[in-house]
Amino acid sequence: MKHLGKVMEQVIKRNPNEPEFHQAVREVLESLDPVVEKHPEWLQAGIFERIVEPERQVIFRVPWIDDNGKVQVNRGFRVQFNSAIGPYKGGIRFHPSVNLGIIKFLGFEQIFKNSLTGLPIGGGKGGSDFDPKGKSDGEIMRFCQSFMSELFRHIGENTDVPAGDIGVGGREIGYMFGMYKKLRNDFTGVLTGKGLTWGGSLVRTEATGYGTCYFMEKALNAKGKSFKGSTVVISGSGNVAIYATEKAYQLGAKVVALSDSNGYIYDPEGINLDTVKRIKEVERKRISAYVEHHPKAQYHEGWTGIWTVKCDIALPCATQNEIDEKSAETLVTNGCYAVGEGANMPSTPEAIEVFHKNKIIFGPAKAANAGGVATSALEMSQNSMRYSWTFEEVDAKLKHIMADIYENVSEAAREYGYEDNLVVGANIAGFLKVANAMYAQGIAW
Ligand code: NDP
Repeated sequence: MKHLGKVMEQVIKRNPNEPEFHQAVREVLESLDPVVEKHPEWLQAGIFERIVEPERQVIFRVPWIDDNGKVQVNRGFRVQFNSAIGPYKGGIRFHPSVNLGIIKFLGFEQIFKNSLTGLPIGGGKGGSDFDPKGKSDGEIMRFCQSFMSELFRHIGENTDVPAGDIGVGGREIGYMFGMYKKLRNDFTGVLTGKGLTWGGSLVRTEATGYGTCYFMEKALNAKGKSFKGSTVVISGSGNVAIYATEKAYQLGAKVVALSDSNGYIYDPEGINLDTVKRIKEVERKRISAYVEHHPKAQYHEGWTGIWTVKCDIALPCATQNEIDEKSAETLVTNGCYAVGEGANMPSTPEAIEVFHKNKIIFGPAKAANAGGVATSALEMSQNSMRYSWTFEEVDAKLKHIMADIYENVSEAAREYGYEDNLVVGANIAGFLKVANAMYAQGIAW
């Protein structure tokens, strides 16, 4: 980091105890030296210092009543990071590990991801340390309503449009949307990932997983490879993992392993996706239940073991820092030649170094998982038009957007002297558009 070391130092000093945020910022700043050399005027304009500081951060109390009548209190967050190119946009995460640093890392990443989609959306993220696991439907509903009873005053269809993330799917979006509508008396596209009969878009559910595979297929094709005939390992068994599995199969691959935070399943015959969908989407059970239906499959305790399963292509689709240096080395030793990040920041910096050193085709999250938010932006367009596109129309747009992202990212990498390094390409391509917009809009006092 030749030019931006001071900015990084300031980020660490001003945001103590936020290691994930530091990690996300460092990765971007490290990529931007060649940009600083082309645009010295951005130093004077403080673009780099401004882009690492959220425009607004809201932290709030979320009290709710559990099934025993006891009042519980969680903490809610919304970080509105950057609105240079459009209203803040980014998911809401419900997971006990959520804290301000996690939401800031996700919000920061979101700025560049959203820019890469080519659509007019700024970056934001939100969530709570609420753990939805084991809660009844009623508890989930009361929590979502309480969360929205504060969040509603900070968001709006032209201000900030949240979506789902870990622990927030169609059910939670429904409860939050219902509460927003009641409080505002306004039926508007303030959230994305809505149900199809009340403003949702076809393909939104599938979009992140499908998009990751569309992006990786382009990256593989550029190196004379493809999903067809390959063996794939996918971590997680939530929204992103399930639809990455579906698309990988459609592209001719065999998916042999999936996981959750307790362990992983290995099915040498290929994971039966209908069983997984039933277990996870309908019954809401643990992934271990899979082996009750498929006795030839194996279940292993521990979530990191999944990276010891031999594969050609690995798609981490669970959570941040789930592939460390050792897991990355194991993947490479076992012959894996491509890694596509469906989750946000699933590879540690050391793991990424292993992938780059071994010339693994590596699709970074900002680019590879941008299909979800891109389709959310398509949902916003349809809401504005009061119109719905067909599944085929949205899917074609998603595919086109992912192909464009691949082209722009690999072109930026080439132009700035980092051919094949899609991490640097994504950071630069995502940054340029936002920086240009910030510079043009001057300093808002
Ligand atoms: P879900 O809640 O649907 O699924 C998350 C999956 O990851 C579950 O299988 C969960 O297991 C597992 N998981 C979560 N935390 C951990 C952990 N600490 N260790 C191991 N496994 C874990 O979330 P999504 O599929 O929506 O999100 C997955 C990833 O994709 C996240 O990084 C998210 O930010 C990213 N993403 C999601 C988008 C979307 O559209 N949904 C868009 C872009 C990125 P368990 O049930 O045991 O917790």
